[in-house]
Amino acid sequence: MNWDSIIGHTVTIANLRAMLQADRMPHALLFAGPEGVGKMLTAGVLSAALLCESADKPCGRCPSCRQFAQNNHPDFSLIRPEGASIRIEQIRALQHQVSLVPYLGDRRVVVIENSDKMTTQAANSLLKVLEEPPGHAVFILVTARRQMLLDTIISRCLTVGFQAQPWQELLAALVAKGYPAREAEVAVRLGNGKMGTALGLLEPDGLRIRDQAFALVAALTDSRGQALWTLPEELEKYTRQDVLELLHYVTLLLRDILVYRVNREQSLLFNIDLAGQLAEQALYWEETALLAAFGRIRQAERALTGNGNIRLVLEALLIHIMEMMKGGQHFASSSGSAI
Ligand SMILES: [Zn+2]
Repeated sequence: MNWDSIIGHTVTIANLRAMLQADRMPHALLFAGPEGVGKMLTAGVLSAALLCESADKPCGRCPSCRQFAQNNHPDFSLIRPEGASIRIEQIRALQHQVSLVPYLGDRRVVVIENSDKMTTQAANSLLKVLEEPPGHAVFILVTARRQMLLDTIISRCLTVGFQAQPWQELLAALVAKGYPAREAEVAVRLGNGKMGTALGLLEPDGLRIRDQAFALVAALTDSRGQALWTLPEELEKYTRQDVLELLHYVTLLLRDILVYRVNREQSLLFNIDLAGQLAEQALYWEETALLAAFGRIRQAERALTGNGNIRLVLEALLIHIMEMMKGGQHFASSSGSAI
């Protein structure tokens, strides 16, 4: 893992490397930008570079780089939510650790992943550390929800912004890394410019949830309708996060069907690999039903984020969509109000 592992973000990387070279790294950085664009990867490379003992940082060979690669560097701490939040106990333990003299080199580096998940007490405790950081410490806070952080914390950090990148750039980079062009294009489109997401989709079985989402969409237009009613049961094995991801893909699929109905333009599809199937689906879906479905999916997502029962929420969603598609003839009487 080195600077070359990071794709895109060229200006950001150049700035970080210049600060590193000049030994002018601020005590606290805030990596802010959408999920899946490479913030954590960059935080990892920068941490290794800050701790590296060679001139060409990170060299990947010195004792520090080796320990970092094995996830047991004594001067590196990664803090992430335990359960739903980052608790004050975690920050207190960190506070003690960073106050100690570095063990291997002359720095201690702390990465706080999903730093917006700190409880108020934890955030206030971190703020005290950031107000008077030990001279040897560098903090890298990472967040996709910068607005959730205390203003007082934000003002103590140098914000480094990360954005989703142009599809063509990511595609070229993935092909250069040796991924087949066709699969890479599907991943880049579905990941919508987010490298981390695209790489996840390129893993074996990476399209599993997207494919399940398509099965669901297809089941909705299957006149026999049988597959549909066994789905919520099957999906009970999914985690809440998986179901939210599934609904995200259902939205992308319905969006593609809408696009196809409007102008039959394949190049605008997210799910480019399913173009043929989506063209067929477009025969069954009316624009009004598609637009209404988007609203229902949003509602289901809110219910799931708020701990709604996965099966009940999905069943209610499917019933509503079926009603919209069939003008309410068949399922009106069985419509529940679970969401
Ligand atoms: Zn090194």
